[in-house]
Amino acid sequence: MKNLILKPEFVQQIKSGYPLILQEFFQEFDREIEEGTILNLYDKKKKFMAKGYYGLQNKGHGWILSHNVDEVINTELFKSKINTALNFRKDFFENKETTAFRVFNGESDGVGGLSIDYFDEYYLFTWYSVGIYKFKEMILEAFTQCIDFKGIYQKKRFDTKGMYLNNNDDFVCGMQAPQPLHVKENGAKFAIYLDDGAMVGVFLDQRDVRKAIRDKYAKNKTVLNTFSYTGAFSVFAALGGAKNTTSVDLAKRSLSKTKEQFTINNIDLQNQHIIVEDVFLYFKYAVRKKLLFDMVVVDPPSFARSKKHTFSANRDYVKLLKEVIQITSKDGIIVASTNTANFSMMTFRGFIDKAFKDLKIKFKVLESYSLPKDFRVAQKFQENNYLKVVFIKKLS
Ligand code: SAH
Repeated sequence: MKNLILKPEFVQQIKSGYPLILQEFFQEFDREIEEGTILNLYDKKKKFMAKGYYGLQNKGHGWILSHNVDEVINTELFKSKINTALNFRKDFFENKETTAFRVFNGESDGVGGLSIDYFDEYYLFTWYSVGIYKFKEMILEAFTQCIDFKGIYQKKRFDTKGMYLNNNDDFVCGMQAPQPLHVKENGAKFAIYLDDGAMVGVFLDQRDVRKAIRDKYAKNKTVLNTFSYTGAFSVFAALGGAKNTTSVDLAKRSLSKTKEQFTINNIDLQNQHIIVEDVFLYFKYAVRKKLLFDMVVVDPPSFARSKKHTFSANRDYVKLLKEVIQITSKDGIIVASTNTANFSMMTFRGFIDKAFKDLKIKFKVLESYSLPKDFRVAQKFQENNYLKVVFIKKLS
């Protein structure tokens, strides 16, 4: 346990519920502090403000767990937070058509540095710091007391860049999940691999976007899905009646993984093209061949490095959009997405404006999406409201 004195200018912020602990909040901060140490935060007059834990992430140095001076950080506390989180997702648990969603979203559910996802009675815990991992036994004990499950898996994303740490200990307890585990999302199926590296096969935060593509946009369209990963957007487009889909991703695994997602949804592979290539090279090819698509989905990582390119969403999104606009047919739809936390929806809309203006092409924003309900965002921590998706119609 460690007692820390807040600089006066940060007292109000902590008091009002800001959940992240940053080194600069304190008069003195011991860098040698051990991960998982309980931190008690006081103002200058030694009045108690909050308590949390030390855990180094790229974001900061720990998270607030309670504003109650008498709170003991124990199984009971985690139980109460987990129960509240589970209750908040009651609708999801009752919905038979969707069996994959987030049940615990870090600081928004009261414990920064931890997320828990549900995959048809299996749970995936993601630990974002050594500090929170120190509470693993306590948190698992609490979880086990809150709900029945078939099995628990984990991902450790500890190193300073939040990278996945592969220790071959992804399986934690209970029954092992089938590989793949078939889950449902709004009636469609996904093959999930809980024990096969950092990513399990689907990004749950895009659920509402996929549904919109299937239910409102895809019918009779030719669809290009760039940075397609396992082709989740293509699957929904195909299910929505797309004429054909083209999925482009650099990773070799994307070919077999995307085929698998189509196959388990009984989609004929005939009209689904899967291309393993650098998207930026594909754009050049598409322009040369004068290809035009009725709908283009573009969902790049915040940062990516390929042989020929480094891409950073901050710096290069406008350029990326310009390439996309050129291969979108008139009246076609562009689904522009980013999961970059460090710029706002307003900035993103600015990127879209600039790309179209530079090309002297008119457009109309049809609708936009941010995180779905299960990825709740704490009122006091909007910086984690990272997802921005805009549906744009290309005019003339
Ligand atoms: N849109 C996907 C998720 C994208 S994840 C979905 O919703 O499921 C980002 C993907 O971009 C990864 O699969 C990665 O392999 C791919 N990627 C990164 N750089 C790339 C590049 N230059 N060209 C093609 N794919 C790239």
